Amino acid sequence: MTEIKFKRLALIGIGLIGSSIARSARQNDLAEEIVCAARTADTRRVALELRIVDQAYEDPVEAVEGADLVIFCTPIGTYEALAQTIAGHLAEGAIVTDVGSVKSAVVKAVQPHLPAHVHFIPGHPIAGTEKSGPAAGFAELFIGKWCILTPTPDTDEQALARLTALWTAMGSDIETMDPDHHDLVLAITSHIPHLIAYNIVGTADDLEEVTKSEVIKYSAGGFRDFTRIAASDPTMWRDVFLHNKEAVLEMLGRFTEDLTALQRAIRREDGEALFDIFTRTRAIRRQIIDAGQETAEPDFGRVHGPKDEG
Ligand code: NAP
Repeated sequence: MTEIKFKRLALIGIGLIGSSIARSARQNDLAEEIVCAARTADTRRVALELRIVDQAYEDPVEAVEGADLVIFCTPIGTYEALAQTIAGHLAEGAIVTDVGSVKSAVVKAVQPHLPAHVHFIPGHPIAGTEKSGPAAGFAELFIGKWCILTPTPDTDEQALARLTALWTAMGSDIETMDPDHHDLVLAITSHIPHLIAYNIVGTADDLEEVTKSEVIKYSAGGFRDFTRIAASDPTMWRDVFLHNKEAVLEMLGRFTEDLTALQRAIRREDGEALFDIFTRTRAIRRQIIDAGQETAEPDFGRVHGPKDEG
């Protein structure tokens, strides 16, 4: 039987994801003590006021002292310096993991700095919202969502079992995969959709002032669904694109080719080609709903007023 409860859980960063882990770990009694490190006093104050952590430190070294589980929950670009800072202070046998949206670059940035006496197992919960900060988290965030772990053949089996048990207790389903494969899959399922959303909302913003107000006014036609994704944290997403450059560029190449094919079908008035593609994509949404990854409610379950149109 795998022991799930940790003695001291140290969260480095306590934003949306870190605070959701803290809440879920509290609710499910997964750690005796939960502490965090956060760079700004305001974040530390909010985390303490919400009572989701027992201690909040400015210095990550103090947070990891004596911790048997350390989770990096900051933007990926901060990982290397943090790993260097905490490396000499990690407890013997501690599990070190993360929640970063890219995996290969994280392994390269963190692994070389860690001592041999800790177990480093990178992770990525496929769960989130467009909100940031400690107040944005909620304990149920991970329920029914996938969490991808990227162990290596050398990863300690017991440490992997404990980390798997932790995420399972928080409600996640676990998948293990190679970091490069993770980065390719996430490039198409998450990173490119964010890039498209940032681009389309940015293009609209560049339009003439008068047109811009009409963009807002008639946004229910589809535009507003992109604005949710495009409202995601700029620091986090800058780091994702800088650290998953190759996979994103590869998928972007394929995306651009397919977009050109759509452009050609419209120019040639090839209704059959358009209809075929749109029929295929509709089936994919059905599969996502059947897999329990989305609500079957029309328009994401929004309550419709008189001004809402498709
Ligand atoms: P968030 O809500 O913006 O929180 C980020 C946390 O990191 C805050 O505690 C922040 O502290 C701290 N931080 C930011 N910059 C820092 C720096 N330079 N040095 C030290 N600490 C810093 O972000 P999040 O959404 O929780 O994302 C955190 C991680 O989760 C990222 O690696 C992201 O890739 C991953 N992730 C996010 C999602 C999602 O949908 N958001 C989903 C899956 C995985 P202050 O408040 O004090 O600045």
